[in-house]
Amino acid sequence: MKRRQFVGLLGASALGLLLPGAAFADDDRKRRSSGSTSTSAGTGVPADTGAVGSVVVVGGGMAGATAAKFLRLWGGSKVQVTLVDQNATYSSNIMSNLVLNGSTTMSQLTYNYNTLRTVYGINFVQGSVVGIVPPVGAGMGSVSLADGRVLTGNKIILAPGIEFDAVPGLTPALQDNYVTHAWKAGEQTTKLASQIRNMPAGGTFVMTIPASPYRCPPGPYERACIVADYLKKNKPGSKVIILDANPFIQAEKHTFETAFGVTHAGVIDYRPNQVVASVVVNTTGGKHAVSTNFGTLFADVLNVIPAHKAGKIITDNPALANVGGRWAGVDVRSYESTGVPNVYVIGDSASSGQPKAGHIANQEAKLCSDAITRALRGDLIPNSAPKTNSACYSPITADKASWLTVVYGYDAVNNRMVAVPGAGPIEAAVATQDNFNDMKKWFATLMADSFA
Ligand SMILES: Cc1cc2nc3c(=O)[nH]c(=O)nc-3n(C[C@H](O)[C@H](O)[C@H](O)COP(=O)(O)OP(=O)(O)OC[C@H]3O[C@@H](n4cnc5c(N)ncnc54)[C@H](O)[C@@H]3O)c2cc1C
Repeated sequence: MKRRQFVGLLGASALGLLLPGAAFADDDRKRRSSGSTSTSAGTGVPADTGAVGSVVVVGGGMAGATAAKFLRLWGGSKVQVTLVDQNATYSSNIMSNLVLNGSTTMSQLTYNYNTLRTVYGINFVQGSVVGIVPPVGAGMGSVSLADGRVLTGNKIILAPGIEFDAVPGLTPALQDNYVTHAWKAGEQTTKLASQIRNMPAGGTFVMTIPASPYRCPPGPYERACIVADYLKKNKPGSKVIILDANPFIQAEKHTFETAFGVTHAGVIDYRPNQVVASVVVNTTGGKHAVSTNFGTLFADVLNVIPAHKAGKIITDNPALANVGGRWAGVDVRSYESTGVPNVYVIGDSASSGQPKAGHIANQEAKLCSDAITRALRGDLIPNSAPKTNSACYSPITADKASWLTVVYGYDAVNNRMVAVPGAGPIEAAVATQDNFNDMKKWFATLMADSFA
């Protein structure tokens, strides 16, 4: 595939043009431009699409923000949408590895909900969801917040991202201050960047990768490359040791084998099959220790990424966490939970056959919004042949990047999404500056599609 075709595909998929639901959007756009629909809340939201009802979306990240926006865009003003997030703003994980070498800052990666509120008429509520009462039939369900407030809706979408398993020796306070994961971007990302900046020349940076599935399969390897590139230029003689619980590189194998063996040869030391047993944190400025099935290593900077599971509001409910008690089983034609009717799970918490990635979260959100819009119209059945595209760019140095793309289609036998034969995974032959520039465009398009 030529690079230009690939970038075109990214733009198309980020805008939903690969999805059947896009037909709705196109119809709505046509109606809007012909003046046959009015708008509400000062927006481009159509007044009446025939869909009527209310939806509560929990989690305003890549999946939840997109779902809220497209429910209004495709469902129209008679679909009331409440979006609830524990934070007032969203910190993007995507691109956050570039905070570690000082190329960007967390404030540049922060998004607010103003456009979703004012342009799309979404009711944004800041609060932490602690309980769910699923809607029964066409009735109302509810979510309850830690402060006692209750939000109601005919449908509930859960998009809480991920939670981590505990690591022996690490408490949340030790993770915030000494041995970060920085795998939920925010203050820990900034902390890890400052630890790297303060590392001595000739020092050791050790990072651990959990067993799959985890969010962003290429992300940890990308992080190792960015840190190695920074250390080579700023802390001569330093090393990056990757302790991977998996038996091999989980994504972009060619890209990262080249990066570890050629671009960053002598700096990155990749070790597969290494499972973290415990950590001893040094709070007085000395080295931290990490023990694995292969022994104990000492690190000036230690970055432990714990094993992942679905968000707590899902794992608290066994009927929702019906994939090994850790992930939510979903019907991938609609993202309705296979355990709890009228509750939908999208993004990293869902088990769908696709990677846990922001681009996929965006696409799952659109399919889910389309299915709910159809249900609230009462006259259409869900899309029976969903297709999604996962695209990912990986910076390998401060100015060169690689990319990976896969198209997924519906496997009706297993109700999973599977890679379409011949349509990926396809990865870049070589990391280039051109790819790095395309990465910035891809990121801006994706974030605008979800938040603007
Ligand atoms: C370093 C890094 C780099 C990455 N790079 C890429 C990339 O290049 N491309 C890509 O496609 N993906 C990338 N990803 C993965 C991507 O960030 C995630 O897959 C994506 O964010 C998942 O979206 P989500 O909506 O499921 O979760 P999130 O985006 O994490 O959103 C979850 C939201 O739910 C809220 N929430 C959770 N629980 C509650 C609750 N009980 N009440 C209220 N609110 C709650 C949280 O505050 C959060 O805002 C990267 C990830 C990391 C860590």
